[in-house]
Amino acid sequence: MKSKYDVIVVGGGPAGLTAARFAARGGVDVLLLERHNGIGQHLCCAEGVTLTGLTVVAEPEDEWISSKISGVKLISPSGDTAFIDHPNAGYTLDRSRFEPYLARLAADGGVEIAFGRRAENPVRDKKRFARVDVVSNGETRCLEYGVLIAADGVESSIARDAGLTDSLIPSRLASCAQYRLENVDIEAEIPELYLDHGIAPGGYVWVFPKSPDSANVGLGVIPTLAGDRSSFDYLDDFIRRRFESYTIAQRVMGVVPLFEGRKTMLKDNLMAVGDAARLIDSLTGAGIATALYSGRLAGELASEYVRDGHRDGILRQYPRRFMKEFGRKLRLYSLAHEVLRRLKPDEFDLIISVINEVFGGKKVYAIDTIDILKRVFKRKPGLLKYAPHLVWK
Ligand SMILES: Cc1cc2nc3c(=O)[nH]c(=O)nc-3n(C[C@H](O)[C@H](O)[C@H](O)COP(=O)(O)OP(=O)(O)OC[C@H]3O[C@@H](n4cnc5c(N)ncnc54)[C@H](O)[C@@H]3O)c2cc1C
Repeated sequence: MKSKYDVIVVGGGPAGLTAARFAARGGVDVLLLERHNGIGQHLCCAEGVTLTGLTVVAEPEDEWISSKISGVKLISPSGDTAFIDHPNAGYTLDRSRFEPYLARLAADGGVEIAFGRRAENPVRDKKRFARVDVVSNGETRCLEYGVLIAADGVESSIARDAGLTDSLIPSRLASCAQYRLENVDIEAEIPELYLDHGIAPGGYVWVFPKSPDSANVGLGVIPTLAGDRSSFDYLDDFIRRRFESYTIAQRVMGVVPLFEGRKTMLKDNLMAVGDAARLIDSLTGAGIATALYSGRLAGELASEYVRDGHRDGILRQYPRRFMKEFGRKLRLYSLAHEVLRRLKPDEFDLIISVINEVFGGKKVYAIDTIDILKRVFKRKPGLLKYAPHLVWK
């Protein structure tokens, strides 16, 4: 390991591996630091990704796809079901193989990957961030860089220490629990989403098929709405109700932050990508597609910045261009989440019936959330009481 790199990326998840790969593709020298001794381990994720979200970085390969996703079932509190027949919607990944694949692409492109190295304490030198400490086996080394990319996930100490994000607070996150269940009776390729605050207060339950008889089954709850029960208490109740028999192969827990807009993405020459910047769809908790997209964009701009003599205007394109692509959607999902967490059971039933009206019996190739919202408000104008929550602050 050298003492100075053009670009240092902290974190070997989808965002960091992609940022490093695309920075190196621009011809600059890149170091990626990962605190664990491997990649694609220690994960808590349902692993669902849309086809369009994935192809920003890779064409699907059997090696790291667990299952195709060809539609989705939404289930309301009274048990009404809406089926959206969405061929080619996406995939359930096998992230334990997907991330090593992304790492291979990065390494083949010239990225130096260092495992078992925790980065901390980004420090400034006059105007810019200039150094970061790297801790390994109890020893600390200080490295220099032209650009630092924080890709260290939801608890990002790099983004927090740089002043880009605050500590997570319970009302601004979903607390998640998940089991990998085997030997279960599910429909292959069709995830199930249960919208019911009785079973997941402020969130929802997911069943993502990994194979015809195994699935990632989990839920997210908003801690301030969940009373004194843990997310696993809610999940255990759900799986006992939903499945007659099952084997638990894995048990994980994690946290999904809510989207906070563009302010978390850039400070001088420090960029934050993926969960570190809280670039999350707050409605579903999906963050892989935004991690890949933000990683690619940040990597490309970081290398251009280094090659072009450190002109600040180049890095300032990062939040602007990301928001041009994703800003409207992420703000809308965030506002929709504010409404959904307040809905009563009969209001969920109504939404399911509107979704049935719009999508029932058709093949769907794109979902227009704004159109669905308009139809819901038209069918039940009383729901406009939630309109104040549909204003982005
Ligand atoms: C229960 C649950 C289910 C989810 N399901 C889905 C889903 O189905 N679809 C979807 O799109 N999204 C889902 N998400 C969100 C998704 O997992 C994240 O958005 C995604 O992993 C973000 O990628 P990332 O690269 O930003 O961060 P991460 O994947 O968290 O990677 C961060 C990496 O940084 C490393 N790191 C952290 N700190 C340091 C440090 N100081 N130094 C060095 N390395 C460090 C970590 O070890 C890790 O490897 C889910 C999340 C949860 C909690």
